[in-house]
Amino acid sequence: MQKTPKENLLIGAHTSTAGGLENALLEGAEIGATTIQIFTRNQKRWNNKPISEEESVLFKRLQEELGLKKIMSHDSYLINLGSPSEEGLTKSRFAFTEEIQRCHALGITFLNFHPGSALDSSEEQCLDTIVESLLSFEKEIAKGQTRILLEATAGQGTCVGHKFEHLDYIIDRTHHKIPIGVCIDTCHIFAAGYDLRTKEAVEHTIQQFDKIVGIKHLYAFHMNDSLKPFDSHRDRHAPLGEGEIGIECFKTLMTHPLTREIPKYLETPEGPSLWKKEIAMLREFSTHT
Ligand SMILES: [Zn+2]
Ligand SMILES: [Zn+2]
Repeated sequence: MQKTPKENLLIGAHTSTAGGLENALLEGAEIGATTIQIFTRNQKRWNNKPISEEESVLFKRLQEELGLKKIMSHDSYLINLGSPSEEGLTKSRFAFTEEIQRCHALGITFLNFHPGSALDSSEEQCLDTIVESLLSFEKEIAKGQTRILLEATAGQGTCVGHKFEHLDYIIDRTHHKIPIGVCIDTCHIFAAGYDLRTKEAVEHTIQQFDKIVGIKHLYAFHMNDSLKPFDSHRDRHAPLGEGEIGIECFKTLMTHPLTREIPKYLETPEGPSLWKKEIAMLREFSTHT
């Protein structure tokens, strides 16, 4: 199989929509991104306006002009699809439905979401509630082309999704009904106890994922180093190569035949000037063998 040339590999960052959704696309183009991740609305608010016709047209046209592909949306931090509280669950499902509608209006490829938190219930209960929530969106999801992606978590507090078995549990019960997949955040899985510090460790972790979830369900990576140590269950992102994971992981993911072509989104701190360097660096790694 022909390898995708480095300039066409889908690599980007979570860019800012301040002042208008189209600004995130412009920022992406400026930093050498071929894809981006955005919040389609304020991620810290429950009530958000729908996407207007003008916004939708402008966004799609600019995306086409700039040549950006497979845009990812990150859902609101307030949403908990596994909430044990009836009120919390109702609000979350309503807000997630709106997330899906905004993605459809903007022609967004992936809607990435944090699976959920058990709070005062059990992990099993939380996983079952998430499955039930996801299946309730079947009709809404079918109206567009967006695939929803479960983000692997660091296991902070009571949040689920920090074990590959959790991801498998949800995927297994939903993927025949809705377009779903996984986004691996390197910082999160490292903090959750999956080692990524050497080429061999990355290989082992990829094999584990394949065995438990199946590599065909992996659609994206969040590329972040970790400020916190291995298995710390703490989620703090660091610039690539400057954290506890180290640069070898990112070199390996850019050359490994199972991961090289998968879209990658930076959420490292510091913003556009750092992302520009990191995107160029990742493209360069992809040419090594
Ligand atoms: Zn992430
Ligand atoms: Zn994180």
